[in-house]
Amino acid sequence: MLESAQTLITKTGKNLGLSAGAIKRLLMPDAVHELNFTAKIKGKTEVLQGFRIQHNNKLGPYKGGIRFHPGVSREEVQALATLMSIKCAVAGLPYGGGKGGVVIDPKTLSAKELEEVSRSYARAIAPVIGPKVDVPAPDVNTNPTIMSWMVDEYVKVKTEKPTFDQTDSSRRNLKNKDNNLLATFTGKPVGEGGTLGRTEATGRGGVAILKALLAKMQTRMKKKPGEITIAVQGFGNVGYYFAKIAEEEGFKIVAVSDSKGGVFVPAGLSVATTLRCKKEKGSVAGCYCRGSVCDVKNGQPIANEQLLELPVDILVPAALENVVNSGNVSRIKAGIIVEMANGPLTEEAFAFLAKNGRIIIPDVLANSGGVTVSYLEWYQNMHQERWSEKKVNERMESLLMGAFSAIWQRSLEKKQSIKQAAFELAIERITAA
Ligand code: NAD
Repeated sequence: MLESAQTLITKTGKNLGLSAGAIKRLLMPDAVHELNFTAKIKGKTEVLQGFRIQHNNKLGPYKGGIRFHPGVSREEVQALATLMSIKCAVAGLPYGGGKGGVVIDPKTLSAKELEEVSRSYARAIAPVIGPKVDVPAPDVNTNPTIMSWMVDEYVKVKTEKPTFDQTDSSRRNLKNKDNNLLATFTGKPVGEGGTLGRTEATGRGGVAILKALLAKMQTRMKKKPGEITIAVQGFGNVGYYFAKIAEEEGFKIVAVSDSKGGVFVPAGLSVATTLRCKKEKGSVAGCYCRGSVCDVKNGQPIANEQLLELPVDILVPAALENVVNSGNVSRIKAGIIVEMANGPLTEEAFAFLAKNGRIIIPDVLANSGGVTVSYLEWYQNMHQERWSEKKVNERMESLLMGAFSAIWQRSLEKKQSIKQAAFELAIERITAA
């Protein structure tokens, strides 16, 4: 993943005429924090390994999630931090890119152990983060509860009596009225400084960008929303809210899937009924729901691989990376692909589909609703404000529309793919800063 992010940045930097030195500076992170810290697990004190990688802060504080996974590595965290710099710049946010991770399988931990790991990691990164320095958030296997433990621990560290370095600048900053420590983490529970609208933000933002794209393509896409068919892979936070909001906007969702398989309902399925059915059965497989009825007459079961290859207008991979690859790319039929997951298309698959006239909304734009609402949470904390969900949604859509228009315009003017235009714009913004 790191190699592919770096190849893209190098290619874009060369297209923009940047010097070899400037490109190298963009590839190298500002700082790599490798942390060893302890937590009591199954009665034993274990030494755990974690990272916080700060890629680039030319546009503002580093921003990016914290991942708990046994496969976390320095390379992966660096790649994700690099892509966060691009994503924040694409979205026009006053943020740079960062990412964190802990090498652990949280599914093997009790709630108490998970809390101890979270607090211990927060203590370890506390010296290098802050509301105007680096603002972490949830990522794979971390959530609002974990953010709540982390911010609590961070505030404790920052407000406890100094024991050794009384001149430390971050402690002096505490006296500044505008230094709101809660703003150091986003994705917090709503009652603890989190924002309304964050849960749905990534899916909602993806639908808003899809609608903006279709409005620009009116001459090419003659169908009305009710005739436009969509298949969504993944029925978690991103896939479910994308499908739900797209259905509310009048699109026809014909297929959804989760890790156990999927359903294809050619006449269009009901997302709410499918969710109810999934809760009962534990999977969407077998949930042939149309209107309020889940009946096998409505549809058919499909494997995840088949869902990707359905003859739909729009394909929305919203689960895993690299699901469209050299093995299946020639069978992908959708004319538009919305990359809601991070990196669902390999570089080769992307190039093949783009060459064949497919329109791809790249992940750095398609799923940027999440980080945009994280920014709005941070903004509310910094200004001691609390906004209604309506205001959060309106501000997010307005920011995303600004980002989309700039990228679309550039892709037309320079006859580029949306992805190439997005990377160029991001790198131009970072280097200009
Ligand atoms: P999630 O854990 O809530 O949901 C993941 C979904 O994918 C689940 O429905 C799961 O069953 C399904 N899945 C797992 N393995 C699968 C497989 N082999 N085939 C089909 N489906 C499978 O995760 P999420 O938050 O929805 O994130 C999904 C993707 O979106 C990830 O790539 C994530 O990095 C990206 N993303 C998420 C956010 C956010 O705000 N949550 C923001 C930006 C990007």
